[in-house]
Amino acid sequence: MSKFAFHNHIFCALMGDFWKILRRFVPPYKKYLFLNILFNILAAVLTLFSFAVIIPILEMLFKIKDATYVYMPVGSASLKEVAFNNFYYYTQEAIAAFGPSATLALLGALLVVMTALKTGATYLSSYFVIPMRSGIVRDIRNYLYDKAVVLPISFFTTARKGDVMARMSGDVAEIENSIMASLDMLFKNPVMIAVCLTMMIIISWQLTLFVLLLLPIAGLVMGRVGKRLKRKSLEGQNQWGVLMSNIEETLGGLRIIKAFNAETKVKERFHRENQRFYKLSNTVARRQSLAHPMSEFLGTLTIAIVLWFGGTLILSGTSSIDAPTFIYYMVIFYSIINPAKELSKAMYSIQKGLASMERVDKILNARNPITDPRDPHDIKSLHGRIKYDDVTFGYDPAVPVLKNVSFSIEPGQTVAFVGQSGSGKSTLADMLPRFYDVNRGAITVDGVDVRDMRVHDLRSLMGNVNQEAILFNDTFYNNITFGVKEATMEQVVAAARIANAHDFIMASEEGYDTNIGDRGCKLSGGQRQRISIARAILKNPPILILDEATSALDSESEKLVQEALERLMKDRTTLVIAHRLSTIRNADMICVLHEGEIVERGTHDELIALNGFYTRLVEMQSMA
Ligand code: ADP
Ligand code: MG
Repeated sequence: MSKFAFHNHIFCALMGDFWKILRRFVPPYKKYLFLNILFNILAAVLTLFSFAVIIPILEMLFKIKDATYVYMPVGSASLKEVAFNNFYYYTQEAIAAFGPSATLALLGALLVVMTALKTGATYLSSYFVIPMRSGIVRDIRNYLYDKAVVLPISFFTTARKGDVMARMSGDVAEIENSIMASLDMLFKNPVMIAVCLTMMIIISWQLTLFVLLLLPIAGLVMGRVGKRLKRKSLEGQNQWGVLMSNIEETLGGLRIIKAFNAETKVKERFHRENQRFYKLSNTVARRQSLAHPMSEFLGTLTIAIVLWFGGTLILSGTSSIDAPTFIYYMVIFYSIINPAKELSKAMYSIQKGLASMERVDKILNARNPITDPRDPHDIKSLHGRIKYDDVTFGYDPAVPVLKNVSFSIEPGQTVAFVGQSGSGKSTLADMLPRFYDVNRGAITVDGVDVRDMRVHDLRSLMGNVNQEAILFNDTFYNNITFGVKEATMEQVVAAARIANAHDFIMASEEGYDTNIGDRGCKLSGGQRQRISIARAILKNPPILILDEATSALDSESEKLVQEALERLMKDRTTLVIAHRLSTIRNADMICVLHEGEIVERGTHDELIALNGFYTRLVEMQSMA
């Protein structure tokens, strides 16, 4: 493959990607695009005419022609000749009537008016492209957020959270600054170039042919630099993701960092990553800033060559055009050079933007394994039992966390799971609402596989209370009504009363309308937990999943929460994971998990009688 063909190939690939992006995001903004192009064409045409005024001005100044012009009706000669001739004719008449100086002023005024119109049209073209530009960025951000909400929990490991945030903020901003900022140039400049080139061909096709031979050579040189830009830019954005993950991790773990005097350590780690980012940014920015001086140099070089070539033609008297027309030609040519320069700059920007788009698409195109089945079973309430049938699961399928787990929970029963930390209790509970899907085996509700139900239906059967109460930066009222479509104040208050939360809510400044602050940090652990219990009570689900709901609490608030939980569990099918064994003494069945397997099962008394794992767990706790 020749060098030229090779660069041409890169160029086509770039434009291909770019058009794909346009086809994806531009359609809602067709109207704006149309107006933008319309005003671009207008601006280009006005440019031609405003500069055309220069010819008679030059002629008058240099007194080149003394031929007299006769008015030509349209159609009596080629359009070009008629236009030029009649313009000269009117100029000549004006000189006769007002004198040369006044005519010069008149022509100057005409140039000013035309330019005002032209710049006005240019402004309008930008005016209409702007809503499209920011609109597309808004859309991408919305798509990303929507996708992030839909993607399964397994997608967001802690390391990935910061990276996802980097993509949602940094990469979207990069797309805005590079691709979208280039949109304007990409629609304006080709129009300008096309219009000007047409005029150049009309004036002198021989000279224009010569110009057209020069341009691809300049383009070839430019292409070389752009090649590595995208790859470096991708590396840069990836590094930005690493930085964001780092920050996210630090802010989340600030308490531990301080407690362990690890400030210097984390600082050093951050500075190291930041230094890498600095180096990558330098490489990218330097390469990108090459675009400007290089196109400037190449542009001037081209102009110099054309000046020499055209000038020589005119001097030798073999040219079809005269000196003022040649100057006009050069002015127009010059107005191509600028858009061409901008266009090449835009190409460089787009390289950077495409790298970010690739990263954004990694999220947008991420596959969601937890999907609705094609024809789902309709299940709106629970009548029968929950059954785990030989369930095997591992976050990495090669390393099973749950091994051949089987059990069932009859309606209204409470089944408890105990075991050492890391034995797979939370994993087991997460499988029921399909936060993860089984690798082998099946989980059924009322005899229907959970994978055969709508995810929405399945989850509306369940209420969750976890170790860490998850509250939102909103009022008590909105936090409690989070999972239900509509609830009356009476229902909310009733739920809060059952959850032992009503009293402290009323004690706060604005009662149920009090904002609980970021992630509920104004509340104690027990209070937060009781809000999340009130939420579960209000949702009134037939199935309840309690994952160490009281383990983070001191014994005083544990009593209040335990009370609330017992009221919540009444008449519900409950899967409870307990840290403190005293709280599950009354469960209908207790399963002991050990390294992902159920090793013992039975009531409290039966398990004590076995004198195995359970007895040891009980002994360990009573010692503590
Ligand atoms: P438990 O709740 O009994 O303390 P978990 O179910 O949380 O135990 O964890 C069981 C095992 O699965 C542990 O070895 C843990 O390291 C692993 N694990 C838990 N969550 C994840 C995850 N999101 N990705 C990979 N491994 C995980
Ligand atoms: Mg757990």
